[in-house]
Amino acid sequence: MAVPKFKTSKSKKRKRRTHDKLIPVSLAPCRNCGLSIPSHRICPDCGHYPSRGKGGARTRAVIVKDGG
Ligand SMILES: [Zn+2]
Repeated sequence: MAVPKFKTSKSKKRKRRTHDKLIPVSLAPCRNCGLSIPSHRICPDCGHYPSRGKGGARTRAVIVKDGG
C-alpha cells in the first residue's frame, strides 16, 4: 500500500480545503413580482421567466403553474 512520504502541512491542508466552502447563491429580483430568486429560474411565486423574442427585443413570457 502506498504511504505518503511526508506529513501534509497545515498550510497545504488548509489551502486544499479552501475549495470546500459553500458559495452563496446569487439572487436577483423577479421582473414581474420583485421576489428574490436565483437567476435563470422560473419564479416560484408568479411563474414568470424572462425571455428574448425575435429581433433581440426583450419580451416577457409567463409560464402558468399547474393548479395542483
Ligand atoms: Zn415573480
